Amino acid sequence: MTELIVVDRVDKRYATSSGPVDALRGVSLGVGAGEFCTLIGPSGCGKSTLLGMLGGLVHPDAGRIVVDGRPVEGPDPRRAATVFQDPGLFPWRTTLENIEFGLELQGVPRARRRAVAQELLAPLGLRDFAAKYPRELSGGMRQRVAIGRALAIDTPIVLMDEPFGALDPITRARLQHELLRIQHELHKTIVFVTHDIDEAILLGDRIAILREGGVLAQYDTPDALLAHPHDEFVARFLGADRGLKLLALRRLDELDLAPLDGVAGPTADGSTTLRDALSQMITAGTRSLVVLDGAGQPQGVVTLESLTGVAA
Ligand code: ADP
Ligand code: MG
Repeated sequence: MTELIVVDRVDKRYATSSGPVDALRGVSLGVGAGEFCTLIGPSGCGKSTLLGMLGGLVHPDAGRIVVDGRPVEGPDPRRAATVFQDPGLFPWRTTLENIEFGLELQGVPRARRRAVAQELLAPLGLRDFAAKYPRELSGGMRQRVAIGRALAIDTPIVLMDEPFGALDPITRARLQHELLRIQHELHKTIVFVTHDIDEAILLGDRIAILREGGVLAQYDTPDALLAHPHDEFVARFLGADRGLKLLALRRLDELDLAPLDGVAGPTADGSTTLRDALSQMITAGTRSLVVLDGAGQPQGVVTLESLTGVAA
């Protein structure tokens, strides 16, 4: 994959009343075109600072940010749009008018920007709310309007700083899936800050874990992180249930199954996650399951031993 965004050994130190604070130290990573990168770490570890650099709002003390082969020297509304935790909508504008806002700034003619905003209503689940004002919308809908405003500008890069952080768990889960669907359609390059490890795993093609002092602890696919955390900090960050999280990422039909050899017993569809298969073994009190294909035909056997070996 060609890297659209290259972060090259960036440092950032802030002068504060209690002395200098390292926000980022020697951070390097790349994000491919169309990739979804999640950025996670404890509070104060430099996530927003790094996102600000990608947006051209924060200047590194050392190192550089390169986007599409060109060094980032300041904000550019054609390069990246940002969504924050606070949707920051104009209360006197309707849904459509809020979504159009960035295009208006760019001087896009009224009919054109209205057409773009209209087209975003359906994928954002806002079709019936085009003429509503922010006060008439739920928190989740307001955040969708903010996402619409960022998507309308049609930048290749969308930066998101804990956009779902203030939402209730159900709304949050729905928006996560909507964002993934929109991403499949529009192929944006997304850098998404979160402090929720489950959100980072669900959304990210790759996850960057930062630690205190602004140091990149590990940058990897969810699968690689969960199977092979580089150190104790990363392992703790992923949680004591990281083995189960790893099982949840894989499906029975991705395994090399043992031959049937006349084994009978409880069955599971090939689309079942390994985590659910383990759960099924526990509740059924068995050490193996017969795996079925889409037509209900037995394909082979998954054993408890094969599940315990997946991180090897
Ligand atoms: P995160 O988003 O991961 O919580 P930030 O990037 O906001 O972290 O901040 C990283 C560190 O830099 C923190 O210690 C924070 O207090 C400090 N910091 C961030 N912005 C400023 C600023 N404008 N002035 C002084 N210190 C700052
Ligand atoms: Mg932050």
